[in-house]
Amino acid sequence: MSRGKPAPEQLDLSNALMEALPGYKAADGTDARNYGGTVGLPEARALFGELLGVPAAQVVVDSSASLSLMHDVIVYSLLSGVPGHAPWIAQQPITFLCPVPGYDRHFAICEARGIKMINIPMTEQGPDMDLVERLVAADASIKGMWCVPKYSNPGGVVFSDEVVRRLAAMRTAAPDFRLLWDDAYRFHHLGEEKRACASILDACAAAGNPDRAIVFASSSKISWAGSGVAALAASPANIAWWTGHSGIRSIGPDKINQLRHVRLLKDSATVEALMERHRLLLKPKFDAVLAQFERLLGKVDGVSWTRPDGGYFIDLVTPNGMAKRTVALAKEAGITLTPAGAAYPYGRDPDDSHIRIAPSFPSLDEITKAAEGIALALLTAIAE
Ligand code: PMP
Repeated sequence: MSRGKPAPEQLDLSNALMEALPGYKAADGTDARNYGGTVGLPEARALFGELLGVPAAQVVVDSSASLSLMHDVIVYSLLSGVPGHAPWIAQQPITFLCPVPGYDRHFAICEARGIKMINIPMTEQGPDMDLVERLVAADASIKGMWCVPKYSNPGGVVFSDEVVRRLAAMRTAAPDFRLLWDDAYRFHHLGEEKRACASILDACAAAGNPDRAIVFASSSKISWAGSGVAALAASPANIAWWTGHSGIRSIGPDKINQLRHVRLLKDSATVEALMERHRLLLKPKFDAVLAQFERLLGKVDGVSWTRPDGGYFIDLVTPNGMAKRTVALAKEAGITLTPAGAAYPYGRDPDDSHIRIAPSFPSLDEITKAAEGIALALLTAIAE
């Protein structure tokens, strides 16, 4: 339960990737076995363009994981600067805004690359925009902000239209400011209602800031996590910038994997149908956790949890100062959880009150027992 990994039966849904050889000729005649195609095969770009609602020309398909694309955007920006601007490393210190609780690997990239982080509290509509607007207007060292706009990790928040509009339009002291828009859970609904989030690229273009956002997505939790395909979508200027750098780093991505994925995922309707099969496997596990929490923690003061409409996580909120102790007690009982504090920059949850629950990987039986164990660990921590 420590990471949001798909369960084996979810991975089985894409076993056609294994069984059907895709051939090696792309639609335009490209031999996918050979070098080249830095921006990805045309049919892979068209597929992600359709999925993300972006023209194919503004999409690059590269790598097997979107996190590596995010990492590279940051490294290229540090070393060479974004289009028309000095390298970020020549403008030290560099700061990123980090909505919290958030995704630990985003924060790990910043920490590893020497980027300072500022916590931004999340609301039910998205990041606290009054605070964001105030900070970015006043401090030119703030060069970027992490955003997981839909079914955020771990809070399950979907950014409202107003939040998207304000992020796109806000005045930033740094002219080379970027939104790293990680659309990791765009298709990962848990409820019957499929929630939507406004297009950040359209909002940025409408606000006169067309280069502000870079969108990331992947098939990691659609097909196979680790052997999927990833995509980056952005303005034409940002795509040209990316391609200039990525063409130095590599002579081209794994196009056979791109072909396999195009054959499997085909179009939006096929992806939606596949995601419905994921949903049917995941929903009972989320429901089992929620039922145990309701049964054991429903009447406990200061304890709450999210009931997400999508994504991979439940955020269990404990009374202040009890998350670490609960995770330690759960470990003694044989339940491994994400370390308390991981959802905060530098691993420091100032209130020590958030525990990220990842119900996807264990079986339904295991997850039910584990949720009961976590609830009992929290009750023990409270009673101590
Ligand atoms: N972004 C978020 C918000 C995630 O939760 C995850 C997976 N846990 C990723 C990115 C990783 O995506 P990928 O496999 O494409 O690197």
